[in-house]
Amino acid sequence: MKELRDRLEAMACSLGADFFGVADLGPVREEILRQGGEQVASYPLAITFGIRLFDDIVDRLPDRLYDRTVSVNYLNQCYDTVNSRLDVTASRLAGLLQAAGHRALPLPSSERYDSERLCAQLSHKLAARQAGLGWIGKSCLLVTPEAGPRVRWNSVLTDARLEPTGRPIEDRCGSCTECVDMCPQNAFTGRSFIEAEPREARYDARKCERYFESLDAARGRTACGLCLYACPFGRRDRGKSQGEGGF
Ligand code: SF4
Ligand code: SF4
Repeated sequence: MKELRDRLEAMACSLGADFFGVADLGPVREEILRQGGEQVASYPLAITFGIRLFDDIVDRLPDRLYDRTVSVNYLNQCYDTVNSRLDVTASRLAGLLQAAGHRALPLPSSERYDSERLCAQLSHKLAARQAGLGWIGKSCLLVTPEAGPRVRWNSVLTDARLEPTGRPIEDRCGSCTECVDMCPQNAFTGRSFIEAEPREARYDARKCERYFESLDAARGRTACGLCLYACPFGRRDRGKSQGEGGF
């Protein structure tokens, strides 16, 4: 199965993925079941992959209300285009798995199947955490040691017996609250991620949603992403040592 894992990774990288992992979903099955239901929870593994966002665009997010080009560039190149690339990658990886005789469910990179709970079928961030690619920060984003939260993710669920690439790594948020403090809607409670706790203990998705609706009504489709911008991990102006050392 190592050969299949290597082929999947090579394909993901050739399609532009900057991060690749295989996640054991067993330890978080209950959470996956709660969010996505029986079908999603029936897969023991996820292939997880991510594309790094462009710092030159993310670094300008604080100006998004004053300079229209910031939102236009972010929404096009750090959201729509990256999501399309992730969807194509999911389709290609699932095709490879199926051709090798395994079940494979490619998921959309960005979708909301439950308009009440404002969530997707699977948390791609949770899958990436299970693969050892980062930790879930107080922003509910997956924070990688290399690029902080400046990564978008997607997953393919499978029953192929692949070796996981890692295990969840230690939370390095420490006493930092930069994402919590910067959110214009106070959507975060400041609590650290705990597997057993629902997302609502850390994040009020409705506050974020309402903010986007009000921005869209007032000025057309507008970016926020300040929680992603604020994180010292991945920020060029904070220096590499902070990103590596934690707080
Ligand atoms: S996108 Fe903006 S409003 Fe939504 S949680 Fe992040 S900082 Fe808050
Ligand atoms: S900004 Fe600070 S608290 Fe928020 S995710 Fe990043 S390291 Fe964690």
